[in-house]
Formats: sequence, C-alpha cells, structure tokens
Amino acid sequence: MIEENVKRILAELPCEVQLVAAAKTRTPEEVLGVVEAGVKIIGENYVQEARRAYEVVGNKAEWHFIGTLQKHNVRGKMVGMFDMIETVDSAEIAGEINKRCAQIGKVMPVLIEVNSGGEPQKSGVFPDDVEPLIRQISTFKNIKVTGLMTMGPRFGNPEDSRPYFVQTRKIFERIRELNLPNVEMKYLSMGMTNSYRVAIEEGANIVRIGSKIFGER
Ligand SMILES: *Cc1c(COP(=O)(O)O)cnc(C)c1O
Repeated sequence: MIEENVKRILAELPCEVQLVAAAKTRTPEEVLGVVEAGVKIIGENYVQEARRAYEVVGNKAEWHFIGTLQKHNVRGKMVGMFDMIETVDSAEIAGEINKRCAQIGKVMPVLIEVNSGGEPQKSGVFPDDVEPLIRQISTFKNIKVTGLMTMGPRFGNPEDSRPYFVQTRKIFERIRELNLPNVEMKYLSMGMTNSYRVAIEEGANIVRIGSKIFGER
C-alpha cells in the first residue's frame, strides 16, 4: 500500500522535483518501508523521533529537518544527522546551527522558511525580512543558504495555496538575482499532500508529502 503510494507519486513527479517523505508520527519501520520503496529523502519534524528512525534507516536516505526549530534542539548529534535544515527563520537559530556545525567540521545546507501568509502566529520569516536575514546568515562559515521553504495552508482548496507559492517564488528569484556570496538559491520547497501539484506549477523543486504516502495521521 505504502509502496504503491510511493511508486505512484515518484512516477508523477517531474524529474527535477525531489520528494521528501514527511514522516512525523510514523514508526521507524514505516519510514524504512518508504525508503525501500524508493524514497530518497525523509523529512522529520521532531529530533527524538528522527533519531529513532535514523537508528533503523541510517544512511539509506537523506534527512531533512522540517519542523519548528528551537535552540535547545540544535546539538552536535542533531546537526551531524541531518543533511539539510529547511526551517531556519532567525539569525539566532542560524547562529546556533553554525556554531554546532563548526564543532564537527560541517557546512549545513539550509532553507529559509518564509511565512508567506504573513500571519503572526505562524512560523517563518515575513517576506520583507527574508533578504536581510539571508544577508546576515551568508557571513556564517558553517551554513550555506540554498533556498526557501514555505508551508502555506495545509487544508482546503489547493488553489488557495497558489498565491503563497507565487509570492515565495518571487522572493526566491529576486534573491537569486542578487548573487550574494555564499548563497546558492537552488531549492524551493513548497507543497504538501493537498497542494503539491499547484506548488510544482509555481516552481517548487522539493515537495514534502506525508499523508498521501503513509495514509492519514
Ligand atoms: C506534516 C508536514 C508535511 C506533510 O503534510 P501532509 O499534508 O501530510 O502531506 C509537509 N511539511 C511539513 C513541514 C510538515 O510538518
């Protein structure tokens, strides 16, 4: 079942679009199952849960952190395990990642999470603050900004997500054109089960899909 879901989605995605299987609440065995079915990247929201899955799956997949990041979660082990952190939304968090990565001799690729709805209660950086934050982070030696991520609304009509994706793509392109040193605007992570088709139409090259792979949570 899960295997068929993976195969169907992989067959549907254009070849330049990477699939991240959003694994929150799933067991390590379920995560291993999707990897064996062909998923190359696992997205984790919680460090503890990620560690349990990592013990089973290890380096058979890449690991993206896609959850809300708090400073106390950023430890040596954490930055050692993840291949990308998609949810950087402050210089403070970036500074902590930079510090921990320096300790283990790693350069962490990160995406800046954009609060494309501009809603105060949601995570992410407001659109106007993205460029200043990237300029600031670009001076950190052990972090490399490689793109943007946005959530948008999770439910409802997928068309309702389109304006959020369009806006995030515009920011992405504007910053890419600045050619900032130590910044490589390569990845645009947008779209979930409900909205990934619309996100791809609007330029996403990473989609994060949970329920359509694993079933409803
Ligand atoms: C849970 C989650 C997803 C996947 O959501 P689905 O609707 O289950 O596809 C994608 N991105 C993030 C950040 C998530 O937390």
